Parts: sequence; C-alpha cells; structure tokens
Amino acid sequence: MDAFKEIRPLRAYLSKHPNRSIGLVPTMGALHNGHLRLIGRSKAENDLTVCSIYVNPTQFNNASDLEKYPRTMEADRKKLEEAGCDVLFCPDNNEMYAEDPTLTFQFKGPLATTLEGAFRPGHFNGVALVVAKLFNIVCPQRAYFGLKDYQQWLVVNQLVRDLKFDIALCGVPIVREADGLAMSSRNLRLSSDERVRALSLIQCLRLMQGKLLNGATPGQARKEAADFCSSAGVKLEYAEVADPVTLLPLDQNADPRKGILLIAAQVGAIRLIDNLFVDETQAPN
Ligand code: AMP
Repeated sequence: MDAFKEIRPLRAYLSKHPNRSIGLVPTMGALHNGHLRLIGRSKAENDLTVCSIYVNPTQFNNASDLEKYPRTMEADRKKLEEAGCDVLFCPDNNEMYAEDPTLTFQFKGPLATTLEGAFRPGHFNGVALVVAKLFNIVCPQRAYFGLKDYQQWLVVNQLVRDLKFDIALCGVPIVREADGLAMSSRNLRLSSDERVRALSLIQCLRLMQGKLLNGATPGQARKEAADFCSSAGVKLEYAEVADPVTLLPLDQNADPRKGILLIAAQVGAIRLIDNLFVDETQAPN
C-alpha cells in the first residue's frame, strides 16, 4: 500500500494511472469491520481504492470529543494492508486547512438542521467541507459511505447534487457486532459496563419497529423509546420515526412501514447513533 501525507505527491501518483477507476473511502480512522466493508466494496468496484484517514476538526462541535477521538494509525495501516487497500491518504491539519477556512457550507432546510444537525450544530457544514476537499483532491469515480451515518449519507448526496460532482455515491449497510451493536470507532471508549448499556440503542430501535409494525402510531413509538431509554440508563437525545428522504418526522397518518428509525443517545460520556428501517427490505443496499 502506498501512503501519502501530502496532497501534491498523492495527486502525482494518481495522475500516473489515468485510465484506472478510483474508489474513495473517507474515514476518521480507528478502523473496524464497518470501515473494512466499505474498502471491500470499493475494491470490488474500482481499479484503485484510496482510503483517507483524517480526524476533521471542523465537524466536531465538542472539543473533548475531538481530543478524545481514538487515533490508532499503526493498527489502521495494518488493517488496510490486509484488506488490500491500494492507497492511504492521511494528511495533517496543515495540509487540509493551511488557511483558516473562509468558505463555509450552510445547508438550508431540515436535512442538515434536524436530528444530528440539531444536536451537533455546524457538524454537517464541517463534514461537507472536508468531503468536498477530499473529492477535489482524489477525484474518484465512486465514493463509499456507511448507512450507519444515515443523515450524513443524505447530506453528502445533497452536496454532490448541488455542486455537480461527477462522482457516484455508494451507501453501505450497517455492520454490527454479533450482539447487534453498530460498529463505531467510539465504541473503543466504552467501559465494560457502558458496552452493555450501549446495546440499548439497537434494542430501542427494535422495540419501536415492533410497536409500529403492530399498529402503534409514531407518537406512541417515540414515547415507548423515551421510557425504554430512561429505564436502561442511557441519555436519549432523540428517537425518531422519519421520512427516509426528508428526515422530517412521520406524522400520525403516514404509513410507518415507509419510515426510518433514528436514534442518538449518550452512554456515559460517549455519544452513539444508530438507525433501522421499519421495513428492513426498504433499506438501501
Ligand atoms: P468514520 O470513520 O466514523 O467517519 O466513518 C467512516 C465511514 O465508515 C463513514 O461513511 C461511516 O458511515 C462508515 N461506517 C462507520 N461505521 C460503520 C458501520 N458500523 N457500518 C457501516 N459503515 C460504517
């Protein structure tokens, strides 16, 4: 695997392979099997796979979360080698933000301001900024994102449509631990007791799914979720039944089978998210 910390030599390397299709997998490192699934998809569909590892400061609205974000570069490198990734791009802040950004994104409408956008103000503006930079640096034909970050997936799709990037986006289903916990780099920070309580997220989603499929209204499902999380000892931020395209809450009269369930909760000091389609056959694959 070739590794680059700087943009210029990466571009020079990629320009030597003009006829090869490039798949980009943007990550923040602390790689797990969820990330590796994205790498596998990219390898299957492209001649060259580029994985970026960069903990992007502009998408963190919480300084302690940024500081404590797990950084495991040597282990990551090894995993990427074993997965057959072709290129690693691991820039530092000087390389990505040589100057303080004067250009920022500001999404209009609920897509970037509801749910994650409401609880992490400015988060998606930072995501869009770094993803746009990576797209311009790597110029991939395809880019791979996990549906674990479902709202991010929609926001990146919007970014590509608005800015006319000629890049096909591929959404990869959530990879879970054997007990159902969605894999996440932040899971590394959970104590053993918190690791048990972290299961409440998927349990809560399954509870809501069951209720909705048995005729409960979205309002009833939200109430069940709030009660469940308070008794499970996790601090619920939101548990929503939403339209999978607009992310607006489904109203009482909508068919809940068309909805997606999204949850965010704090387990101790660690904030986790997860999601589940009410009708799982409707999930993108
Ligand atoms: P991150 O390093 O957390 O920014 O994640 C990098 C990419 O991997 C994002 O597109 C995530 O949505 C995706 N990802 C993270 N965890 C998972 C998972 N458990 N299953 C599928 N994709 C994931």
